Amino acid sequence: MTSHPSPSPARNGNPLAYLEEGAAFDDIAGPAVSGGGARPRTRNAPQQVDVVVIGAGQTGLSVGYHLKRRGIPFVILDANERIGDTWRRRWDSLRLFTPARYNGLDGMRFPDNVHVFPTKDAMADFLEVYAARFDLPVLTGVPVDRVSRQNGRYVVRAGARRFEAPNVVVAMGTFQRPKVPAFSRDLDPSIVQLHSGDYRSPAQLGDGDVLIVGAGNSGSEVARELAAGGRKVWMSGRDTGHIPFRIEGLLGRHLMVRLVVGFLFYRVLTTSTPVGRKVRPKVLAVGGPLIRVKPKDLAALGVERVPRTTGVEDGKPHLEDGRVLDVKNVVWCTGFTPDFSWIDVPIATDGHEPAHRRGVVADAPGLYFVGLEFLYSLASAMVQGAGRDARYIVDRIAERVASTATNA
Ligand SMILES: Cc1cc2nc3c(=O)[nH]c(=O)nc-3n(C[C@H](O)[C@H](O)[C@H](O)COP(=O)(O)OP(=O)(O)OC[C@H]3O[C@@H](n4cnc5c(N)ncnc54)[C@H](O)[C@@H]3O)c2cc1C
Repeated sequence: MTSHPSPSPARNGNPLAYLEEGAAFDDIAGPAVSGGGARPRTRNAPQQVDVVVIGAGQTGLSVGYHLKRRGIPFVILDANERIGDTWRRRWDSLRLFTPARYNGLDGMRFPDNVHVFPTKDAMADFLEVYAARFDLPVLTGVPVDRVSRQNGRYVVRAGARRFEAPNVVVAMGTFQRPKVPAFSRDLDPSIVQLHSGDYRSPAQLGDGDVLIVGAGNSGSEVARELAAGGRKVWMSGRDTGHIPFRIEGLLGRHLMVRLVVGFLFYRVLTTSTPVGRKVRPKVLAVGGPLIRVKPKDLAALGVERVPRTTGVEDGKPHLEDGRVLDVKNVVWCTGFTPDFSWIDVPIATDGHEPAHRRGVVADAPGLYFVGLEFLYSLASAMVQGAGRDARYIVDRIAERVASTATNA
């Protein structure tokens, strides 16, 4: 083991030293930020730390920022090879629907004019720069495959590596498993089908008509791109509603985005308000309203709205109203389900996610979630909501660390 350059910050206030002394300290405390910095090694002894954060997207990095400010030793583990890859993998033409004003994270503004809607690659690069700027200890290329609890501590396993900590923050996003109905397997093999998570550009599709299944934000943006390219597009699914103004118009940029994204999504629609508690189940069930694309934009491009796709008949998609569509491509914009199967800790669920209060799991002290849909507010799964939720969780961790120190 390489000698420890300085004692743990929780003990002497040095913000540059993150981890407790223990096996393989040098693994983590070396080049901290991703991009090939960390070198996974096989060790038998688990690496000891106060907090393991799983995921280095906007929420995990925000947690890291606040842990570092508090001087609590931690490490962030991420499956991706490079910070920001989740954004980089999204479709080529994607621009954020939130302007730069709402894409900064605690401690750092997004580096562009506040009214600009950044590209997904600019967002990815921002996350990478953020981690570097605050020297956050991120280990990339480390997919966690199990979290269990032994003797009151969590054991986080990533292949042959083990980390042990009294606190674990799961910041893995909600986009693990593409949701595709089982009947998709019955579609004729000549029909090209892919999920929005794999969609990059129209070039991936075969010639001919397209059915977009799912009428949320992803479905609408993909439908618009394909229809603008001259294809006949059908869009199937329930209407999720839409915000009643143009985000990129003058009024939208200067006033309405502030009111809706900055005020309504962030301050009003929270689990602390009656209206937020009323809206939450609907948002979880059908998704939020359309933000950039309007139904009339799609209609103008000739996109035909049809009811839900309910099955397959003679190899073709069958709609709720009995119609069968003779399309050559199907894009499933049907969302994702989070995968919690690797969290091997007994916790109650509310059907689709662990039961929690603002990300704090009562059943499992020391286990926290951030970045879940409407975790606290409608903005919780958006960039602007990351900092507040992270701060709240880190405050709880700090209380726990303090009470453990008092009782020791
Ligand atoms: C198409 C699209 C457009 C969007 N546009 C906007 C927008 O304009 N504005 C906005 O505010 N929000 C937008 N969002 C929503 C939101 O900001 C993003 O989904 C954001 O990426 C969520 O951040 P996160 O940190 O919670 O999760 P992610 O960005 O998904 O990051 C999670 C990280 O966890 C890692 N991970 C997952 N599982 C494991 C594991 N087992 N072990 C180790 N690491 C793991 C992943 O590699 C990943 O890096 C958009 C979402 C989508 C899908």
